[in-house]
Amino acid sequence: MNRDELWRATLAKLELTISRPNFLTWFQETGVTAVESGLVTICVPNGFAKEWLQNKYHRDILHALRELNNEVKEVAYTIGKPPHPAVVGSGKQKTHDAPPPVSDTDDSSIRELTVNPETNLNPRYTFKNFVVGSFNELAHAAAQAIIKNLGMTYNPFFIYGGVGLGKTHLIQAIGNEVLHENPNLKARYVPSEKYMVEIVDALRDGQINQLKEKYRTIDLLIMDDIQFIARTEKMQEEFFHTFNALFEKNKQILISSDRPPQAIPTLEKRLRSRFEGGMMADVGQPDFETRLLILKTKMESKQMSFPDKVLETIADLVRTNIRELEGALNKVVMTAKLSNAPIDVDAVQKIISSHQSNAKKFVSSKKVIKVVSEFYDVEEKELVAHSRRRDIVKPRQIAMYLLREELHISYPAIGEKFGGRDHTTAIHSCEKIGNVLKTSSELEEEIRVIKEKIYSV
Ligand code: ADP
Ligand code: MG
Repeated sequence: MNRDELWRATLAKLELTISRPNFLTWFQETGVTAVESGLVTICVPNGFAKEWLQNKYHRDILHALRELNNEVKEVAYTIGKPPHPAVVGSGKQKTHDAPPPVSDTDDSSIRELTVNPETNLNPRYTFKNFVVGSFNELAHAAAQAIIKNLGMTYNPFFIYGGVGLGKTHLIQAIGNEVLHENPNLKARYVPSEKYMVEIVDALRDGQINQLKEKYRTIDLLIMDDIQFIARTEKMQEEFFHTFNALFEKNKQILISSDRPPQAIPTLEKRLRSRFEGGMMADVGQPDFETRLLILKTKMESKQMSFPDKVLETIADLVRTNIRELEGALNKVVMTAKLSNAPIDVDAVQKIISSHQSNAKKFVSSKKVIKVVSEFYDVEEKELVAHSRRRDIVKPRQIAMYLLREELHISYPAIGEKFGGRDHTTAIHSCEKIGNVLKTSSELEEEIRVIKEKIYSV
């Protein structure tokens, strides 16, 4: 494998474990410039991307590279243009020898390639293929009202809920529908992480006024996964001004988040009150009937059919979210295609349980500590050390609580992991969090998000 092939294969692996917007944002225009005595040098387009890859994805990258080439020991990042830019999400440049997609069996990956460069909207997200149930009907109803009366009824619209429950699908579908009805309007979909990169780039290139202008002439702004923006004050400030400029002109703003505004610890008050001043809707988890309906809808686009029992079994076993549901269905479809034999309930159970145990296997106490530190934006080192700072104490107690509740680690072992503390400290922490949880929906929400991150591979 030469270095380009190595990188392409690495990207194919990473793509499976990282959300699509993140993947597109951070891995576009990356490449491998050198592989020398175990050191792989990866080039990235700017300093911001370098920092993110180093801080957020280093382990995943190293892991994926090692799986492909066990001589790889280290990874370094440099800023520059790749020899052959990685082709991420743009089929036009895809070379013939790119590795085949590993698990994607439906046609979504092909349609994904037709993302409109002007609006950033993906035409695959429509209302036609969006199933409505009690878990999302409020959000769906609000969406319909927004389309009828853009900028006037529910502004901003803030949709929140766990991963894979259809937030991105819904807000993009609004964008597609609005443009379908009125092609002259200017719409723009942007994941907040991408927005931040645009700002950083513009600041560097002295183009910030042009960028501001670009955002302030939009009729419909769709900001996905806003929670990331709360990490830096500068970004919140930029967004605040853009928000106001649009809002004052009655331009429609759609925002998604993995949690409600009050559960984003570092979100500025003024932004929070703006968000809460509009329409908020949450999406929950679909019930069995809805999950079954979703599966049936997805089957319509595949040239294949399964007995009802098979779909019912999938709907019964996969309860977490719609993305998982799609993933499980795709696995079953792929197995059916490869085996040529009819798929029965037993086979489905096997396929899904192997899928699920894979996901669980990855969770270690290290991962729990890492996720908690990232969530509260504290150093892992500090979390396990003896500091009594208030902003460290709560995350530390939560980390201990999760080690106990999720991984069933003994109290003495937990104390040991946190700088050799006594087991009574561990017990106290777990009880404390357990008690607060009984009355605080904010903490409940935070822990829900943390758990999701822990279990996402
Ligand atoms: P989120 O943004 O909340 O993490 P997505 O919008 O990315 O979730 O949805 C995950 C996957 O599930 C996507 O492939 C999407 O098309 C599909 N999906 C989500 N909600 C629905 C729905 N109500 N009906 C059909 N498919 C859905
Ligand atoms: Mg999303």
